[in-house]
Amino acid sequence: MDRNTAIRIADALQQAYPGKFRTLLNFRNPYELLTATILSARVTDKLINSITPALFERFPDPASLAAASQEEVESYVKSAGFYRNKAKSLRLCCQALCERHGCEVPATMEELVKLPGVGRKTAAVVLSNCFDVPAIPVDTHVRRTANRLGFTDSKDPQKIEQAIAELVPRDRWSAFAHHLTYLGRDFCFARKPACDRCPVAGLCPYNPD
Ligand code: SF4
Repeated sequence: MDRNTAIRIADALQQAYPGKFRTLLNFRNPYELLTATILSARVTDKLINSITPALFERFPDPASLAAASQEEVESYVKSAGFYRNKAKSLRLCCQALCERHGCEVPATMEELVKLPGVGRKTAAVVLSNCFDVPAIPVDTHVRRTANRLGFTDSKDPQKIEQAIAELVPRDRWSAFAHHLTYLGRDFCFARKPACDRCPVAGLCPYNPD
């Protein structure tokens, strides 16, 4: 793919999804988004949105979650899948936040990925949605659509991130990655993509037949 095509795809998606991009997870501050994103691994955002209100009412900040017992955190995230590991990650992450960052969520990729349970995707979600730092969260939708649109033929999230970063201007990274997520959710389905209705069909080399 050349840079010009990449920008035309970004423009078409911006037109299809006007307004500011936003993660589909509900949150009110960086702590809540970090927590929700850690929980969202391998399950839908809708499911996580159904369990976080009670979790955040009981644990309104990193300090309260850091001090909680494993059993109590597990009881709030039981339906999130892999709940034992996720509860452990949340507690360790919040303990690290309080030990290293004064119970605040840091605003750099470098510091975020050093937190337990936080990978580049989670860090990119927090940076782009909470701090307006350009970042490219590569979720399952971004992976699929970036491949079909021809940004890369790699399935490796870091290579996909790199391919997008090279072709799309930095100040558009966050919006573009979120738009790819919306595209995957609304049109570019894993099994039967709705190419006949897709807003970037004219720029896409993928042939579903
Ligand atoms: S044209 Fe089809 S394959 Fe290409 S991005 Fe749109 S829905 Fe996906």
